[in-house]
Amino acid sequence: MSNNIAYVLGHTLYLNITNRCPCVCDFCIRTHSKSVGSGDNLWLDEEPHRTDVMNALAEYDLGRYRELVFCGYGEPTCRLDDLLWICRKVRGLRDIPIRVNTNGLSDLINGRNTAPEFYGLVDAVSVSLNASSPEKYDAICHSRFGLDALPAVLKFTKEVGEYVPEVIMTVVDNDTPREELDACEALCKETGAQFRVRRYITTYEEEAQKPDPQIS
Ligand code: SF4
Repeated sequence: MSNNIAYVLGHTLYLNITNRCPCVCDFCIRTHSKSVGSGDNLWLDEEPHRTDVMNALAEYDLGRYRELVFCGYGEPTCRLDDLLWICRKVRGLRDIPIRVNTNGLSDLINGRNTAPEFYGLVDAVSVSLNASSPEKYDAICHSRFGLDALPAVLKFTKEVGEYVPEVIMTVVDNDTPREELDACEALCKETGAQFRVRRYITTYEEEAQKPDPQIS
């Protein structure tokens, strides 16, 4: 079970702590592959207890990796309390940068303002932006929060920048028109986050060439 919880891609160690997600994004790699990097099947039989996650991490020498990233076949902030507990434990073990790849819906998922909770525990947050309007976002991400999703993503991104040193917003370029990419970049700028365009990919072989799996 443990290599479904922690997996390696390139020089980065990833944690797959949940398969829950309020979205069904058109581009999500989990719709066409079950493995990423050394994780042969990121579909979990059951969510690992947070101590199981620490046990999975104990199998790796954290000093060998550039970064520890919460990014699996689900939205990690669906387990925000456990995620932050794990960050606190890792902080006590080793000085490794910690990043969370997220759809930015943490506030709606958890029903509270969550950005302050990241302070001191997370070094970087990468938020999927994906579209320049609530309607376009809904057409791509099919969030259960509907048209409320994108405004919540933008609000969270802006706020988390006050508590986390590095915040990035990403857009997957799936033959996306230049005007749409420009509109996304303009929205991103309003949050104060950095902007990055990711190429659309469909296979693990392609995935291995990229710095991150195409999830969240
Ligand atoms: S890309 Fe991320 S937010 Fe979208 S369905 Fe996949 S796990 Fe959920």
